[in-house]
Amino acid sequence: MGRRPVSSRDGVREIWSAGGVVYRRAGDSGLEVMLVARPRERLWALPKGKPEPGESIEQTALREVSEETGLQVAIDGSEPVGSIRYTYEVPGRPGRVYKVVHHYLMQPTGGDLERHDGEYDLVEWYDAHEACKRMTYPNERAIVERAIEALNGEEAAR
Ligand code: ATP
Repeated sequence: MGRRPVSSRDGVREIWSAGGVVYRRAGDSGLEVMLVARPRERLWALPKGKPEPGESIEQTALREVSEETGLQVAIDGSEPVGSIRYTYEVPGRPGRVYKVVHHYLMQPTGGDLERHDGEYDLVEWYDAHEACKRMTYPNERAIVERAIEALNGEEAAR
């Protein structure tokens, strides 16, 4: 996978985005994760976005999550918890977009949910299993399920 934001051949556009599963351990109720939503579009999703020129995948993930949630965040570990691929058409443009999105586990280090940008209407903590039920895209849900597994395993090992 290249680090350039966009490459194009034969009308095929390959792009990448990066984002995260922001989580916190919430006392007895267990694990919570952050979702961003546009309820009118029935969209509940993980925060993510495309790179600005020269950014690494981690930098894009940190910036996009921070902009869309209002929180400052730190990445857990050095690898994404998972990456998903999907393809879509852009109305009025020929060919298809092939997209890969890398998601990192992240924890909040500061900031304020009130300060999220206008990309989504809602930015909220959800019980992790409730989040899975809410999420619009099954491939993103699988990322959160993997995150729950990894974090519960970590907790059990303590
Ligand atoms: P970014 O947040 O990376 O800037 P964007 O807002 O430009 O992205 P996407 O969120 O990737 O675009 O949405 C582009 C198209 O892909 C839309 O039609 C959307 O419904 C669809 N889509 C978005 N996320 C997924 C997904 N996880 N699986 C399948 N299709 C998706």
